[in-house]
Amino acid sequence: MKFKAALQSLQTYEAGKPIELVVREFGISANEVIKLASNENPHGCSKKVQQCVAQKLASMHLYPDDSFYQLKEALGAKHKVDTSQIIIGAGSDQIIEFAIHAKCAKNDGILMAGVTFAMYEIYGRIAEAKIIRTKSSTHNLSEFTELYKQHSPSIIFLCVPNNPLGESLKVSDIQTFLKQINKECLVVIDGAYQEYATFKDEEMRISVAEFIRDFPNVLYLGTFSKVYGLGGMRVGYGIAQQEIIQTLYKLRPPFNITTLSLVAAIEALKDEEFIKYSLQDCFTQMKQYEDFCRQRGIRYIPSFANFITLFLDGLGDSTTLAQKMLEKGVIIRNLASYGLNAVRITIGTKEQNQRALSLMSALL
Ligand SMILES: *Cc1c(COP(=O)(O)O)cnc(C)c1O
Repeated sequence: MKFKAALQSLQTYEAGKPIELVVREFGISANEVIKLASNENPHGCSKKVQQCVAQKLASMHLYPDDSFYQLKEALGAKHKVDTSQIIIGAGSDQIIEFAIHAKCAKNDGILMAGVTFAMYEIYGRIAEAKIIRTKSSTHNLSEFTELYKQHSPSIIFLCVPNNPLGESLKVSDIQTFLKQINKECLVVIDGAYQEYATFKDEEMRISVAEFIRDFPNVLYLGTFSKVYGLGGMRVGYGIAQQEIIQTLYKLRPPFNITTLSLVAAIEALKDEEFIKYSLQDCFTQMKQYEDFCRQRGIRYIPSFANFITLFLDGLGDSTTLAQKMLEKGVIIRNLASYGLNAVRITIGTKEQNQRALSLMSALL
């Protein structure tokens, strides 16, 4: 059967390997497998969220409130924006998809960093857009500006902090950059790890309300999959001026998150203690990896997110390292598919990190 040409050369996105696969393939029991490959919160989610979801189980035959009223109210209060400026997605992945389909016709340009979140390119290629990347792998805003002038793209993606490299951008630099961008160009600011960045450094804090007021072409994305610990629930959101949100709404299927996900996200926003603890512990634990790298002369980029990326340079091959660790029950992310001899490791609990590090130490 013939399918559309854009799909022929498209590789299927490879998500972080699931624990079940390691159990099946290597016969390791599930509670001994450590997954440090998908940037999930190693502390799980708030206990209060679990209780509220449990109480809601008997309602799963009912569709959720499709206006997502309560969740939007809570997000509106958190970000100081009106509920009409918010759209909810099945993960922020879904909003990325809406944004690209809303903006890109065939051969329209999408500008992004040299190495960044893979879904921008995947949805872009499905829409037959032209993918434009900076030469620098991390976000270099002067290169972005140059390429913007050269190609006038329809969309620009800024992933701050950037997955999978971990660097971030100062708010003042983003603002300076945005001033040069024509209001016809949609700038998506993917804030999947913003909570981590602002915890580490106040200069990284993006005030969403200010941004969408000053720059009507900005779409901000947030997610419940990372620090909120709800990756399995699939809830994300987009915030922008009404004109953008109303257009994205035309692409949204009804009931795009579940009744249980909706309860979980609403509750998750209430438990600030859990978030604070998760953020604190992440950066405390990250020191173990940084010390390990310094002691062994392993190159890494200081990370503003809940993972750290190690460049193996002359120390071996990332595919081999990831495979050997997998066989011992520790799942990490090999970045060979991004053209890097590097691995990305999600910061786990203290015990998980110790196991990952002692294993790496033996293998490198
Ligand atoms: C995890 C992630 C997302 C969104 O994840 P969802 O689970 O779909 O909400 C978006 N952007 C980046 C950069 C991410 O790392």
